Amino acid sequence: MSTPKAPPTVIPTSKGASFVEVLVDCPGTDKLFTYRIPSDLNICPGDILNVPFGARQVGAIAMRCLSDLPPELTTTRILSVVDVVCRNLFPPGYWQILEKVAAYYHTSLMAVIRVALPPGLLQRSQRRIRLHTSINSVDVHGLGTAAQDILTLLQQSPTQDYTWQYLRRQVKKAQVGLRELQQRGLVKSYLQTQAPTQPKQQQVVTFTTLNVPDLTKRQQEILTLLNQEGGELWAQDLLRLAHTSSNTLKKLASKGCITLQQQERLRLETSPIQPDQPRMLTPDQAKVLSQLNRLQGYAEVLLHGVTGSGKTEVYLQAITPVLARQQSVIVLVPEIGLTPQLTDRFRSRFGDRIRVYHSALSDGERYDTWRQFLTSTPQVVIGTRSAIFAPVANMGLIVLDEEHDTGYKQDQPAPCYHARTVARWRAQQEDCPLILGSATPCLESWSQTRRCEPHLSQSKVHYLQLPQRVNARPMPPIEIVDMRLELANRNHSIFSRLLKKRLQELQQKHQQGLLFMPRRGHSTFVSCRSCGYVAECPHCSISMTYHHSPDSRQTLLRCHYCNYTQPQPQACPVCKSSYFRFFGSGTQRVMQELDKTFPELRVIRFDSDTTRRKGAHRQLLNQFARGQADLMVGTQMLTKGIDLPQVQLIGVLAADSLLNIPDFRASERTFQTLLQVAGRAGRGEHPGQVILQTYAPEHPVIQAVQQYSMNTFLINELKQRREANYPPFQQLILLRISGLNETMVENTALDIANYLKAYIQLHRYEGSILGPAPASILRVARRYYWHVLVKRPQAKLGQSEHWPFPRQECQQRCPQNLRLQIDVDPLKLL
Ligand code: ADP
Ligand code: ZN
Ligand code: ZN
Repeated sequence: MSTPKAPPTVIPTSKGASFVEVLVDCPGTDKLFTYRIPSDLNICPGDILNVPFGARQVGAIAMRCLSDLPPELTTTRILSVVDVVCRNLFPPGYWQILEKVAAYYHTSLMAVIRVALPPGLLQRSQRRIRLHTSINSVDVHGLGTAAQDILTLLQQSPTQDYTWQYLRRQVKKAQVGLRELQQRGLVKSYLQTQAPTQPKQQQVVTFTTLNVPDLTKRQQEILTLLNQEGGELWAQDLLRLAHTSSNTLKKLASKGCITLQQQERLRLETSPIQPDQPRMLTPDQAKVLSQLNRLQGYAEVLLHGVTGSGKTEVYLQAITPVLARQQSVIVLVPEIGLTPQLTDRFRSRFGDRIRVYHSALSDGERYDTWRQFLTSTPQVVIGTRSAIFAPVANMGLIVLDEEHDTGYKQDQPAPCYHARTVARWRAQQEDCPLILGSATPCLESWSQTRRCEPHLSQSKVHYLQLPQRVNARPMPPIEIVDMRLELANRNHSIFSRLLKKRLQELQQKHQQGLLFMPRRGHSTFVSCRSCGYVAECPHCSISMTYHHSPDSRQTLLRCHYCNYTQPQPQACPVCKSSYFRFFGSGTQRVMQELDKTFPELRVIRFDSDTTRRKGAHRQLLNQFARGQADLMVGTQMLTKGIDLPQVQLIGVLAADSLLNIPDFRASERTFQTLLQVAGRAGRGEHPGQVILQTYAPEHPVIQAVQQYSMNTFLINELKQRREANYPPFQQLILLRISGLNETMVENTALDIANYLKAYIQLHRYEGSILGPAPASILRVARRYYWHVLVKRPQAKLGQSEHWPFPRQECQQRCPQNLRLQIDVDPLKLL
């Protein structure tokens, strides 16, 4: 038993194979083990096996069959597989997908399995043995004693089956007997599928009235608090908030001031569920739906619909006929917590056919849900990125909502997979359509609908549009404020005069507003407040990062892609202004300024600091929805899941910190984020207004945002990407080298970069190697990070890569105490 490093020929079944690599289901084991296949067993990847492991027999999953032993194992004693417990647990082709993920993302199969399968999968399952045929007619002649004993027991069982554990206790040499019976096809071994688990029930407290005589002061306090929190809380939350006891709650219930009920935990968090009927579709929606319904087999649809255009309703109605055909559906969302309404809508439409799967589930819940995937009932899996690995069989449709969202990409740990890429492979394999929905599609998805992508033939790609909001409400007008003029007019505040005026009016007009402040980049770019000039790398067209090295008194500007460095100019190279410095202010600074300038304004701060506590997110949103604040100040979080008709003002502070993230996708991120932010206004009667402050009003992205013009943006952006050889025109691979010793990290990065440069030169491969360069956030949690960036042409049709990436060779150059992470198609290049 040991791990092979470079496995020899892999074959799809054990016909002709002598060995099998298995995943042993024991906590703490994180590698594959190799076993011998007995000559009378046929094993396929995905089969559940019994194998000897130490002194015990344990469950294992067959991963791959090998024709011969890997060289490093030839001197080891190889144990044999005991038995096949169960076949076809996973849908056909499931293992090929996992293999493909491992190969494409240059990671181990084990790492992929850890993402795909819940921990302790087999330990929690029970193996059972069942009579296969009517035994009366069976010839038991020549069966061994053990086999006969097992038969007799099974015949006596009212259900004709027993757990294997029980049979083993009752019958001597049960293993031998079972083998005999299985070979004759008399019994079948299987893993018990559990009954669907009951969702967790918990007590919920609902306010009814304060109008009851003889309430103590304390009781009144509790009721008032409950009322302030919206009239409904989990009992345990109320107990904690009000510092009271369940006895007190019972007394209040007996007085009729509150009701106490059991409710399903998940459901309440996503507000109560009412059964819901399909809506009459708008003509646009109807057109899209009929096109979707006409699709047959694999196809990729980009559903480009502005925020509020009714994409979700279209998904729902596209799913209905799929379920009716007895097929299953996977719906991916970027984050469950931020979009509880979405899950609600699916539940109220499809009831208990919904399975919600995400990383916040406990191991037990994950396992329970996962087992339900394996049943053959048609179901709708809703989940975050790892749900793309749900082993549902017979899929009829995959939907990726908000397909541009970066949450679909895993950065850490490996595999650094993108759920969209895996979804594409699964849809191809299941021969079913894949819908990518977004108001702001990412460039990769958009461009492939316009030109032939290597992995698709044009007839398989569709671009469908929902250009209008359902209620035909216009998008709010976007007003651009030139902050350079504010400075010229001696306004040094972070608020422009226009925004100040509108903030002042909020309260008088009983309106609400959102103030969007891009999350402060860890990087700091330098820019001129007088003319808007930003220092950029001449080679990489990304903004340069401000570096202050402790050993030199000089401040440097550095490109963290290619490591180009220059001293920081003291004055603006363009206009000579001395307002040339690094940029950035966080939500805290904004809160202080608000406090100073508008002391009477009621403000909620909504960012990762204030929403860290579980449920805080929803609580703050509820407070705001109830009108307990005039203004909500927040970061990127504001762009998601806020659908409030009373929001009429949106202020965007410093669009520049988005535009100048040192990343070639900065423009794309800015465009998407700003459109998403703008989409939060004007959902009610009033059209609303967006005020966008920037030092670069003439920037093409800002112009495109103002016009809500995806086309303008795309044409310009695709041109730049093509010129600089960035995706979607070329493929990137990011090598992240990290460790505690800075010099060692730097030297290793240099060694790997040099090796790669020589490698592509030797083979005359197309592409380039950038760096090594220190990451723009050089040090995280005491580790230093250096990057090497590989650019190469996109793979040709039918190939997984344009030229073979030498993973082993790079890995070998990385010492044990450093870490090399390979990120294929990276989204975060910081
Ligand atoms: P999107 O997912 O594109 O943002 P939604 O599907 O959430 O849009 O629709 C926006 C709003 O319009 C929701 O409140 C939804 O219930 C409503 N809606 C969607 N389709 C219709 C329709 N055909 N008729 C009436 N209301 C609709
Ligand atoms: Zn200047
Ligand atoms: Zn550069």
